[in-house]
Amino acid sequence: MLRIYDTRTRQVEDIPQARALRMYTCGPTVYRYAHVGNLRSYLLSDLIRRILERQRVRMVVCQNITDVGHLVDDAEFGEDKIAAQAREEGRSTLDIARFYEDAFRRDTAALNLRPPEHTPRATEAIDLMIELIAKLIEKGHAYTVPDGSVFFAAESFPSYGEISGNRLDALKPGHRVEGVDPRKRFHADWALWKHSHRELAWDTPWGGRGFPGWHVECSAMSLRYLGEHIDIHTGGIDLRFPHHEDERAQSDSAAGHEVVRRWVHGEHLLFDGRKMAKSTGNVVLLADVADEGLDPLAVRLAFMEHRYRHQMNLTWDTLRAADRTLRRWRARVAEWAESPSAPLDQTAVRQAEAAFDDDIDTPAALRVLRELERDESVAPGSKFESFLHLDHVLGLDLSSEIGRVRVLPAGAAELLEQRARARQECDWAAADRLRDDLAALGVKVADTPDGQTWT
Ligand code: AMP
Ligand code: ZN
Repeated sequence: MLRIYDTRTRQVEDIPQARALRMYTCGPTVYRYAHVGNLRSYLLSDLIRRILERQRVRMVVCQNITDVGHLVDDAEFGEDKIAAQAREEGRSTLDIARFYEDAFRRDTAALNLRPPEHTPRATEAIDLMIELIAKLIEKGHAYTVPDGSVFFAAESFPSYGEISGNRLDALKPGHRVEGVDPRKRFHADWALWKHSHRELAWDTPWGGRGFPGWHVECSAMSLRYLGEHIDIHTGGIDLRFPHHEDERAQSDSAAGHEVVRRWVHGEHLLFDGRKMAKSTGNVVLLADVADEGLDPLAVRLAFMEHRYRHQMNLTWDTLRAADRTLRRWRARVAEWAESPSAPLDQTAVRQAEAAFDDDIDTPAALRVLRELERDESVAPGSKFESFLHLDHVLGLDLSSEIGRVRVLPAGAAELLEQRARARQECDWAAADRLRDDLAALGVKVADTPDGQTWT
């Protein structure tokens, strides 16, 4: 049974055993390429799905596409991130949104993230948001102001702050430079609907044109696509507040009960010791990884070497090391495929699966694989079965080298032999030179404890 840390209860909790489970994952704002930090957050959702699917649970996942309403700097008012990018690139907002949505789908596919069952776009779900806001007004949880904007009345939801610990009484007014918006009845209220006459705006039953706030989008789409009981909700740690607090207040107030059972958050990815972010200028895209000649799944493996709940500092060295491991494992699986078949190694597989169940302890599961790879008492056929069995969760395409005919370009075999000899004689300068000569022929060599391998 999967046990996972719930941010709201602050402890590791059981995920209830059921035939079907519903999971909502906060999706991308499609105004730029997703960086690998963003992708780490989506990997968390994929791992939860894969672990539960191996336990015969039918997963229904909804991951929204935010193509309107997310404002620059996550501010309450100001320019829309997508509109700002459209202006910069001299394209229409729709163009920008669809372009980066396609790029996002390609990136997530390259990381073997299983596609969610539902991927609603905010611009195509405006009626759901208007319906939800109308309901919140009717129930006394929200109020309109003369310009046609609508605010959520934070004080109408007394348990506000349970996810992040930011309780209402501690949220001091005027923490923003511009002070408290005079239209708000209470300083911690937030906009559900923002009055506007800009290009991307819709008419509302309460009068005036405008567009939805980012937080209300996730409430409306999750309630519509998954219903009023959602088993797991995931996102990056920075979404705890205000995004998830506001989403919880809206959804619970509309439904009249706790909608989300478990809130699960992935910690940040750092690069050069700082949170990876466009504003910091330290983003790495999946395309950059491919440009370095590395397999995109090396990113997946590198992420799984760390617990999702710990910050992780990524470096090019860790990515290169992951790439080598990935290639070696695929080559080993292809070798083992040639040996007599044998049942999987129950002990190793059980250990790895117990690690997955233990709050997604992927580093422990990977240690089991490393030990199994080295264990000479286990038949190759058994290693083959075990690796492929666990790859259903790991998602590393470990069987991709089976049957692949590897042909060396002319002259490369001799260079490989010379290099092996140079290494035996500890002539590292020659070994390095030969590595470059091989690279020029398109052959990449890697050194392992068992000698050199090539791809
Ligand atoms: P955004 O497209 O900016 O809304 O972010 C998409 C997702 O990526 C959210 O779940 C964020 O919490 C998450 N995220 C943003 N930066 C990082 C990072 N450096 N490491 C991990 N997740 C991140
Ligand atoms: Zn969201």
